[in-house]
Amino acid sequence: MHQYKGRLIVHTGSMFSGKTSSLERDLKRFSIAGYKVCAFKPKMDNRYGENEIRSHDQERTQAYPLENIDELLEILKDQDVDVLGIDEIQFIDKDPQRVVNVLSQLLAQGMTIIVAGLDMDYQRVPFRIVMELMARADYVYKHHAVCRGCGSDAWMSHRKSEKTDRVVLGASDEYEPLCRACYQKLIQKEK
Ligand SMILES: [Zn+2]
Repeated sequence: MHQYKGRLIVHTGSMFSGKTSSLERDLKRFSIAGYKVCAFKPKMDNRYGENEIRSHDQERTQAYPLENIDELLEILKDQDVDVLGIDEIQFIDKDPQRVVNVLSQLLAQGMTIIVAGLDMDYQRVPFRIVMELMARADYVYKHHAVCRGCGSDAWMSHRKSEKTDRVVLGASDEYEPLCRACYQKLIQKEK
């Protein structure tokens, strides 16, 4: 896995697309290869307890909760880490530029960084930090959930509730993955 030294890997896509599972799988592979792995997640994501990432298929990984990207630097000070994993990167810090700067600095030091994050919110507005990291990444994997309408690859996560907060985290009762065609049909019907 030495070919990934100093490389940035981005797993993105809609909700239920398997981003977190892919991040966990990557971290596990690096761990098997003998690398020291450390995982992080936003503090606000406490769906499954404070100190772990859990994908929708219930895989678990220990993770440090962060309120901002500077806390990550603090934690790394006391540790010898080769590979860094960050889940829900779109919620890790309010300042996307700060995240880019910190991660670029760590990549320059030879760290391998794997992030998972939503490409767009429920209004189909891209998350800036994910755009920035996709452009800068060595590897970008776009994952797809299955459209609830027709079973093809989904394109976005449609929010079923009336909430307008950008930060409602994924739960199957709040969102449904839809392809473009099924989303258009739904919008027409709502009009
Ligand atoms: Zn569809």
